[in-house]
Amino acid sequence: MSDSVLAIAADVRTGRRSAREVVEASLARIAGGDDIHAFLEVLADAALSRADEIDRSVARGDDPGPLAGVPVALKDNMCTRGIATTCSSRILEGWRPPYDATVVERLRQAGAVVVGKTNMDEFAMGSSTENSCTGPTLNPHDRSRVPGGSSGGSAASVAAGFVPLALGSDTGGSIRQPAALCGVVGVKPTYGLVSRYGLVAFASSLDQIGPLSASVADAALCLEVIAGHDPRDTTSLDGPVPEMLAATDRPVAGKRVGLVTELIEGTAPDVAARVRESADALAEAGCSVEEISIPQFRYGLSAYYLIAPAEASSNLARFDGVRYGLRVDAQDVAAMNVATRTAGFGPEVKRRIMLGTYALSAGYYDQYYAKAQRVRTWVANGFADAYTRFDALIGATTPTSAFRLGEHTADPLEMYRSDTCTVPANLAGHPAISVPFGADGDGLPVGVQILAPPLGEDTMFTLAAALERVAPGVGASR
Ligand code: GLN
Repeated sequence: MSDSVLAIAADVRTGRRSAREVVEASLARIAGGDDIHAFLEVLADAALSRADEIDRSVARGDDPGPLAGVPVALKDNMCTRGIATTCSSRILEGWRPPYDATVVERLRQAGAVVVGKTNMDEFAMGSSTENSCTGPTLNPHDRSRVPGGSSGGSAASVAAGFVPLALGSDTGGSIRQPAALCGVVGVKPTYGLVSRYGLVAFASSLDQIGPLSASVADAALCLEVIAGHDPRDTTSLDGPVPEMLAATDRPVAGKRVGLVTELIEGTAPDVAARVRESADALAEAGCSVEEISIPQFRYGLSAYYLIAPAEASSNLARFDGVRYGLRVDAQDVAAMNVATRTAGFGPEVKRRIMLGTYALSAGYYDQYYAKAQRVRTWVANGFADAYTRFDALIGATTPTSAFRLGEHTADPLEMYRSDTCTVPANLAGHPAISVPFGADGDGLPVGVQILAPPLGEDTMFTLAAALERVAPGVGASR
């Protein structure tokens, strides 16, 4: 692992280390070892000139900000002005956005240095990064295994020590699941806390951007930088942002924590064991921990795999060969649309578009889409009941540790099952974090998930930091 975001920023702000030195070291690690295919593009020249700018501002006596000189990797579904943004899809080949996503602007204003764009499942659809048109990212802990997905490149780039910080997006678990499989911290914020402006939409009512980092405090600091109202995203919350970095130092004694039965049952024995140990550790630290069943969670996955594809089928209609990237010419416009989409989208994206179109079609809408929406409300009610008794909930992030490359590619339902523990928070719009907590019998990282009520990021970070302090190690990566 490279050193922490907090340490780097403190050094660069006070001139103890130059941003150039930090960025050069990150670029050297990437150049020397990205045989795991974490990056789609490394922006060495731009990163170095940005680092020099930061060093000049420090020399002038200015403060470049709370992320001064921190190398950051961005999932390739976040728009970067003039820099290819592909979503790991052929259909966006050659497209260079004319603007930066709000998160990219905010990172830059805080002094961070974008060093590259990371690999992902095409349009963020997947749980292993195997659905990338450029081939999979490998898990740095074991190269025969997947890093999780869809933000697999971002998670692996932090786990491999290429960068101390990366951004991912989480629609049904795509930050937390790869974080768990790669042994790093990953946060899905409250829906609306982070602007989606400039995030290529997958399922707009579920998508949120969040940080991946080696430590809980680093994730909290990053989230403070990227959170906050943005008039360019109509779903952006207009109100105070929870205190997050300060919350990592608060005591946990007295917090009421619910250990969710449905987030343990059906998980691999080693995963269940680590989760129970993490609950014991919180009890030891003075929390009151009790098991609670939220039966609605069993239906989350079915609802998610109707709602997410339905929204995707609509969002992806814009890739028609006219406005973005790839165009395959044919005799008329309709034939051109078909030829472009046939050549441009991979099999999983096509499957989602067809599933979603079917679920929304006349005659099936009530039976599938409308019913899934009712289940979504019912899941949110399950959470609301639980939060009358608990400050936070814990459980597994994923049913298993990192699986082998190719293990689930033949059966999409098997792949979808990786998301069972993560989708409830997306359906309800609540925050959740995955914190590394030891390893399984094969030495592969295990993640524990902490869930909190909307805008309860402060409580979530307090508990996550407490867990991190007592967590058994994952073992050395790479
Ligand atoms: N794995 C889930 C899916 O394939 C979640 C993806 C995500 O969060 N972007 O839809």
